[in-house]
Amino acid sequence: MSIWFPPDGDGLSEMQVGRWWDVVQAPDTLSRRIRSAGFVCAAHIVCPADACLLWLVPCGGTDHYRWGWERIGRYVTVRTGRHEHIPVPHVERTGGPGPHWDCPDFWPGGPRGYLTDAPALLTALEVASLVLGPPALCCVVCEQAAWPETRQQVVVSRGLTTYLDYAHPLCARAARLQEAPAEHDP
Ligand SMILES: [Zn+2]
Repeated sequence: MSIWFPPDGDGLSEMQVGRWWDVVQAPDTLSRRIRSAGFVCAAHIVCPADACLLWLVPCGGTDHYRWGWERIGRYVTVRTGRHEHIPVPHVERTGGPGPHWDCPDFWPGGPRGYLTDAPALLTALEVASLVLGPPALCCVVCEQAAWPETRQQVVVSRGLTTYLDYAHPLCARAARLQEAPAEHDP
């Protein structure tokens, strides 16, 4: 199990993404909703200037349920690129004005130090991000995220079964799927 702690002191360091951890970034408007949902078991970085929250998750932690992250990808960004750097507050920097740690009250530290369990974080963000809008649907052809403005309802025939599903217009054309008679977007 990977464990990581920030450097000692109250400084701030630029650190490379993808080396000790990957980064999950969400707008700070979700902060209160995540707390009220009872998800207070992990520390995260608050970046006031960018109005965002950053969770550090074990490297590759978001690989296990890629579609889960993709379907909220409009609201929540997963950063795994090694060419990226983020400002990481040292352990004693727990207040602004710049980037700082927000640790849950009475937090004894997690089993992974300052790393957050990615599946638990995804569950919390799936619920919290609903306030920003609905998640994407899965294109029936390419199985990538299909957002409202880039999808159409199509008629799918599999054997004797015919049903309505969603596809990107280009995917629908390539797969020769007929557009459904009337759009009933959820
Ligand atoms: Zn598609």
